[in-house]
Amino acid sequence: MPQTISAEVRALMRPSAAALEPYDPAFSRVEVNLSANENTYGMPAPAREATLAEIAAVAENRYPVPLADAVRAELAQVHGIAPERIAIGNGGDELLFNLFIAFGGAGRVLVNCPPTFSVYELYAGLAETPITNVPRDPETFEPDADALVEAARSANLVILTSPNNPTGDLVPLETVRRVCEACSGIVLLDEAYGEFSAPGASAESLLDTYANLAVLHTLSKAFCLAGGRIGYILASTDVVAALAAVRQPYSVSVFDQAAAVAVVRERALFMPTIAQIVQERARLSSRLAALEGVRVWPSESNFLLVRVPDAHRVWERLRDEHSILVRDFSRTPGLADCLRITVGTPEENDRVIAALSALM
Ligand code: PMP
Repeated sequence: MPQTISAEVRALMRPSAAALEPYDPAFSRVEVNLSANENTYGMPAPAREATLAEIAAVAENRYPVPLADAVRAELAQVHGIAPERIAIGNGGDELLFNLFIAFGGAGRVLVNCPPTFSVYELYAGLAETPITNVPRDPETFEPDADALVEAARSANLVILTSPNNPTGDLVPLETVRRVCEACSGIVLLDEAYGEFSAPGASAESLLDTYANLAVLHTLSKAFCLAGGRIGYILASTDVVAALAAVRQPYSVSVFDQAAAVAVVRERALFMPTIAQIVQERARLSSRLAALEGVRVWPSESNFLLVRVPDAHRVWERLRDEHSILVRDFSRTPGLADCLRITVGTPEENDRVIAALSALM
């Protein structure tokens, strides 16, 4: 259980912080944890060896290189972009936070597209940034392109998630274009799950056209480094400099930088697992969709959003009777009776299929 804040201490806090509760990922000890969209296959052995060797060579008595130049150099090659156009963070989360510190704030507007990743709203609140919500279609969860473009005209920051968490769908590139053209502020495409999508879906191809576009990636999902905490943003040199100006100088440790260098260098080793996750996604999706009363949305990511009758109870029974943890979204506005299931290994997916077959 997360710790709670006493009334006495809450009264001492800044109002925007006092409104919050400590983040609770709702972890519990289970045999099959499919709740956090991690890569449950783990690193391929040669990639893990390369990572540990790189970590073993660090000078831990020295502060890390602030902007993680070695990681930037590796990523620059992968993305075919200048290293000065890459910002490295302690997970994508730190970069999102810094984005609000640099570009948000009181009297400035974030355009958000719910239901989506809850962290945007959390950081907007902490940075006292007002939010204009442009809700997704309640059935298909598609973003409303015309309404987004309208809202973007007066926004300082627009965040679009592609594929979206937890709904799994992509933002069409035409919508990205229109929003970038309408918005005089920053447009962030959060592509944390982009490696699981069809090629060509990334907004990266538009970076040279729109100076206000930024694209977020992470090594936490496809590249098995959720514990290592490395995210990165591709953007203009100016936006990268703005993010560098507001960051904590040493937020990315020598260990994480070393691990990231190895993982990016060895990225080809991860491709077979990524392809297998995409295959398993199709299998899991069709098996679950065949169950009575279960709705499964199409996904371009490493998770499925499903709707089941009495979802909260199903979530509890999966945990307590089947030792499977998924993510319960049934109390999130717009996601009544929805659960999000990370696509796991074939064995883990079989457990989910068997358990839900028994429960439905
Ligand atoms: N964006 C989205 C949409 C996510 O789901 C996540 C992880 N839950 C992140 C960014 C951040 O991931 P990390 O901090 O592990 O890089």
